[in-house]
This record gives sequence, C-alpha cells and structure tokens, in this order.
Amino acid sequence: MALAGMLDIAVGITVVFLFGKFFGQKMGLMSYVAGVFLSIAPDFDIIFLYLTDKKSHHEFITHRPIIVLALVAGIGWFVENKFWSLLASILIFWHYLHDTEGFLGIKENGIAWLWPFSKYYYGFSDGKIVVKTSEERLKNASFKSALNQYLYPNYRSFMELGISSLLFCFICTQFIGYKGMLLFPIFWIIILIGWALYKYSGH
Ligand SMILES: [Zn+2]
Repeated sequence: MALAGMLDIAVGITVVFLFGKFFGQKMGLMSYVAGVFLSIAPDFDIIFLYLTDKKSHHEFITHRPIIVLALVAGIGWFVENKFWSLLASILIFWHYLHDTEGFLGIKENGIAWLWPFSKYYYGFSDGKIVVKTSEERLKNASFKSALNQYLYPNYRSFMELGISSLLFCFICTQFIGYKGMLLFPIFWIIILIGWALYKYSGH
C-alpha cells in the first residue's frame, strides 16, 4: 500500500516545495504534511470497498473530479486562502490524473472525469482518448492485481518508483545539498531488498 502511494507522496512534497518557491512563501513542515495528505486523500475511500459491493473505489463520489475539485477549491478558500485553494486543487487534480487510464502508460485505471454529466471513464491508449463504461473498465482490471504490481519489477513499478526516487532526490538536495543524491541508491537498495524478500517468501 505504501509503495502504491509513493508517487502521490513524492509529487505532493514536490508540488508544495515548488509552489512555495514560485509564490515566495515559506512552507513549514505542516504544509508538507498537508500536501502529502491531499495528494493521497481520495484513496481513503478504499475502506468503503469492504462495506459495499462495488468492484472499484473509483466508483465512489470521492473519485469524481468535478464534485471534489469544486468542494476542495471552495473549502480551501474558505478555511485558508486563495493560495491553499489553488494548491489543494492542483494536488487533488494530480491524484485523478494519476488514476486516469493510460497516464504514464499505465493500464488498469480509470476516472469518470465528467461525472455527473457523463458516466463514462476517460483515459488514453496509444496516444488516443479512450472512453469506457464502468463494466468495460472493470472487465480486465482488478484492484488487488494492480496493487500487487508494486511488489515485483514491471513497467508500472519501475515507472512510478523511478519518478518517485528522482523527485525525493531533488527535494533532498534542495534541503541538504548534493549529499541528498545519496537518497537515490538508498531508495533503490530498499526497494530491491523488498522485492527479493517478496519473491523468496513464496510469491
Ligand atoms: Zn485514487
């Protein structure tokens, strides 16, 4: 689960950092915690998968971009300010982009971008936009198999963990200088040990 959320966490931290730099605002630890929370927040609906007969948590209202983005932008503005309204919206938007089929070339995903105006799930395949019904999308997809893909080397795990490791490295060097680059080999050693343990534990 932690591996599945790695890219969202890395992007959350990076976006908060870049936003602070761009607007000349000092971002404290709590801003980074909030950034990470927002970039993974829609996925807390996984809990409800166990309480309903839905096959995918992307069917819940928490994965309906138009509704959630309007709410987040409004609440961010009301509770904080325009800065957080925009930052929170970008982080949530990122999450849905990451969940979109074909984003970064990763299949087994899908978001009903235009719900409640359209029930179709939009994505990309071979450079074209693909439109699927919920049934078509779920025919070959399985939440468990998508999650398991992070536990061994394959396109999805290399792509997501590769980008994550580069982003973590970038952030680390911003705070502690060139020594931050050491994070890259450390990150991959931990991942490789994790994959080896998973493989030799009988999977
Ligand atoms: Zn999600």
